[in-house]
Amino acid sequence: MSALTPRPATPQRLPPSTSAGNPCFPTPRSEHPFDVSDTPDMPAAKLALPERACDGCILCCWLPDIDELDKPANRPCRHCRAGDGCSIYAERPQTCRDFLCLWRTDLRFGDHWDPKRSGMMLYRQGLQLTVLVDPAMPDAWRAPPYAEALVDWATTLAATGGYVIVFVGDDVFKIDPR
Ligand code: SF4
Ligand code: SF4
Repeated sequence: MSALTPRPATPQRLPPSTSAGNPCFPTPRSEHPFDVSDTPDMPAAKLALPERACDGCILCCWLPDIDELDKPANRPCRHCRAGDGCSIYAERPQTCRDFLCLWRTDLRFGDHWDPKRSGMMLYRQGLQLTVLVDPAMPDAWRAPPYAEALVDWATTLAATGGYVIVFVGDDVFKIDPR
């Protein structure tokens, strides 16, 4: 893995609206924003996994920067209420409605990738597989089984020009493929 300096300009933005879903708790729904094997221009559209729910996770209301909310990275959204989820759920921005992390949509990400357990949320931004790490668990991505899985994905994605970037607070790392 190699450290990147300086930090990319727009590292932790949620992806554009390409799928229906929800970030903060409720209603598991709909389309899948990412597939490790997708080509970059393939609009992924697969159903969210009905057996998985956000269930109290609020990482995507804390870790990414979100333009529509003027929300910086690694700060809680002003609408996020611990234990209660989104205080404006019915009126939340489209970006929030459209987002689901990969654990919610892809069984290849096993239960150990549940953001509540792993301390990480993953999603794809074009060629980039983005991994946002909870600063409260800054070394989670370096430990097994996560470290090896990240290298596996970096290797898989490299075949189609993709790559894996890990954000931990202000630190940014690119995972080297095998
Ligand atoms: S990071 Fe994933 S599991 Fe957690 S709230 Fe967001 S979509 Fe749900
Ligand atoms: S408005 Fe804020 S609290 Fe509500 S879903 Fe979006 S990021 Fe989460």
